[in-house]
Amino acid sequence: MIEVKGLTKTFDGFKALDEASITVESGVYGLVGPNGAGKSTMLRHILGIYKGDSGEVLLDGENVYENVNAKARIASIPDDWYYFNSATVKDMMRVYKGFYPKFSMERYEKLKDIFNIDENKNIRSFSKGMQKQAAFWLAISCMPDYLVLDEPVDGLDPVMRRQVWSILLGDVAERGVTVLVSSHNLRELEDVCDHVGIMNKGKVLLERSLSELQDNTVKLQVVFDENMKELPNDIPALHVSSMGRVHTYILRMSASDATLLLSKYKPLLVEAIPLTLEEIFIYELGGENYAVKDIIL
Ligand code: ADP
Ligand code: MG
Repeated sequence: MIEVKGLTKTFDGFKALDEASITVESGVYGLVGPNGAGKSTMLRHILGIYKGDSGEVLLDGENVYENVNAKARIASIPDDWYYFNSATVKDMMRVYKGFYPKFSMERYEKLKDIFNIDENKNIRSFSKGMQKQAAFWLAISCMPDYLVLDEPVDGLDPVMRRQVWSILLGDVAERGVTVLVSSHNLRELEDVCDHVGIMNKGKVLLERSLSELQDNTVKLQVVFDENMKELPNDIPALHVSSMGRVHTYILRMSASDATLLLSKYKPLLVEAIPLTLEEIFIYELGGENYAVKDIIL
């Protein structure tokens, strides 16, 4: 578990982090916020690169700063990935292998085909996207308990994005890896995160479990009998839209409660369809928290 508690970091009098707290338990946690929100600064504290002015950064209860054991359990893809100037992927592999006790050569060899990158070429000669792929290749081969990814898919083409996420989600499911990933775009984290934290101006505004959100908000498509001339007016919908005879309701309740509520009008059809992450946030936070809506959409 990664716990950041009340972390504050000031650069030349500017608060890049302002009493920020997050808790990352397992699975995939998405840290979302606009450019300058403080995401990279937060991740650098978790990687033990920065020391906060105040607050705590704990990995399974231990402070990470200057803690070699903790650092050897976390692999990362920073936004400014550091490699030695004239290094090849193979050279960097040796560096990582020396640092990460669980580094797997078998994994490294297997991934060679997927990434299709020449391990003997100078990393500096690669395009941005290829450098990112090389960073992924090495990070995943470390077999870490935690992976910290700072805007990892920026610069990757859609096919490679899917590849990379498929490997990551496989590791989450099979090895219980915990992934902390940042993005300035909520849509990018759709389908992969089970927890989301929203940051702005150095603060964490909220943290949510997506399954909790999904259990609380439902989208139903309903077709009523033709004899019904007007829509029922006692359904507590957050939003209703109609396309011909198909009416779409967004309701703040479970799918089973919503279906039961609609069934008293004897509809010809009721179908619950999944909400997108974006829709969940709009409706979950609609009205109450415009600040958050503006930030993430
Ligand atoms: P994000 O990753 O969310 O885009 P960052 O964490 O990179 O945001 O930056 C948050 C704020 O802190 C920005 O205003 C940035 O200019 C400032 N900042 C980050 N790192 C430094 C630094 N080393 N020195 C001075 N200012 C910094
Ligand atoms: Mg950043």
